[in-house]
Amino acid sequence: MQNLKNLKNLTLLQLEDFVLSLGEQRFRAKQIFKWMYQKRLPDFSEMTNMPKALRASLSERASIAKLRPVRVLESSVGDAVKFAFALEDSDYAVESVLLTDGDRRTACLSSQLGCGLGCAFCETAKLGFIRNLTPSEILGQLVGMNDYQAARGDRVVTNIVFMGMGEALGNYENFMTALSVIMHEDAFNVGARRITVSTAGVVPHIDRLMGEGLTIGLAISLNAWNDGMRGELMPINRKYPIASLVEAAKRYYGRTGRRVTFEYVLIEGKTDTAEAAEALFKLLGGFPCKVNLIPVNPVDPGLSAPGDGAVQRFADALYERGVAATIRKSRGRDVFGACGQLTAELVKSKSF
Ligand code: SF4
Repeated sequence: MQNLKNLKNLTLLQLEDFVLSLGEQRFRAKQIFKWMYQKRLPDFSEMTNMPKALRASLSERASIAKLRPVRVLESSVGDAVKFAFALEDSDYAVESVLLTDGDRRTACLSSQLGCGLGCAFCETAKLGFIRNLTPSEILGQLVGMNDYQAARGDRVVTNIVFMGMGEALGNYENFMTALSVIMHEDAFNVGARRITVSTAGVVPHIDRLMGEGLTIGLAISLNAWNDGMRGELMPINRKYPIASLVEAAKRYYGRTGRRVTFEYVLIEGKTDTAEAAEALFKLLGGFPCKVNLIPVNPVDPGLSAPGDGAVQRFADALYERGVAATIRKSRGRDVFGACGQLTAELVKSKSF
């Protein structure tokens, strides 16, 4: 049997080329798009607005198979659900989180299996870089979450953050393909203002993204106030130090009009000191940005989270100086953190 083409790896334009190559009309691509992403069918057999011969032809040549969830773990307070999806070629599962907050349903998606950036506070980093996820594997997480939501009679995903496993902008082409589907009105129809991508701070990636003419949000994983500390926590800092990141954030704001979020992991005795708050203010004060404070999810015995009082004091110290600081709510804390804080325990799909 010939290799089946996975249609979830294609933008709408590429899907149109594919249906044209079958001798079909272009509009069939949009129909397939809707069936795959809005009705979330696993195969072509029930695509009832298309001729049977076309469905048979598609089944012979293409696949729209779904990712298989191997674990669905609800947080103890019911506001977050962690998913692990099996991949065909790996023992490790790809992980994602769905957060509920009022009317908002936010999907935190993974973009790579493992990650090569080696952040000290990150469980995913322990895997190293295994491989990039394909567009179908990125979108498959979203399909799986919307299936889960539909089964519960709840609304589908409204917001998306790329803060799961991996550096999304390091998987640029696949990320952009997935993004085009996520934003398309015949697929997930999530607008740019409801999408945020997180980066560990790879400056050329940020510059490349701002050249796309999109207005998606950008979150930079900062996590320290000086290069010495940041270099200790995030090796990427040796290549792109803090000053270059702040400059890139300013360029992004200037180009897109979107305030950049700086993610800042609070580690007791390291990043939560009064000196750190003062230095952060000097770094970011006067620039329209947001700081999101995240008590560390301790994956290393040497790194522990400050108590709630210390977290609040740190936030107040920034706030009083005019820096917009928020504390990541405890929602889903038992299953979710920030980039690199998602995973408390890597899931091996073969154990299911
Ligand atoms: S924190 Fe994010 S960028 Fe850093 S190693 Fe983990 S997944 Fe990669």
